Amino acid sequence: MINRSSDNSRRRFIKLTAIGLVAAPFANALLNNVAAAADPISETDPLAAAMKYKADAAQAADRKDATATCANCALYTGKAGDATGPCSIFQGKLVAAKGWCTAWAKKAA
Ligand code: SF4
Repeated sequence: MINRSSDNSRRRFIKLTAIGLVAAPFANALLNNVAAAADPISETDPLAAAMKYKADAAQAADRKDATATCANCALYTGKAGDATGPCSIFQGKLVAAKGWCTAWAKKAA
C-alpha cells in the first residue's frame, strides 16, 4: 500500500526547496540594492551639486545661518546623534548630519 500523505509531504518539500534555491539569488540582489540605497550622497552628484550640498556645512559658502545643518533641517529624517540620515530631497541616499544644502528649512521645535 502506498502512503499518499508521505508522498505529498515529500513532493511539497522538494517543491519548496526548489523555489527557495531559485529565489535565493534574487533575495541577495534585493538586499544588495537596499544596502546601496543607504550610501551617502556625493557632493558631485548632479542633484547635490545643483543644491550646493556640502557634507560639512562649514564648507558651504552660501549658508547664511551658522547653526543650520542637515540635523536641524525639516527635511532630515535621521535619528538624533547619527552621523548620517535620510533626506526628502535625496531619495535613497544619506546626507551627513553636519551637512547643508540650499533647501535647508528650520525643523519645527
Ligand atoms: S534639504 Fe535639509 S537635510 Fe536635505 S541636504 Fe539639504 S539641508 Fe540637509
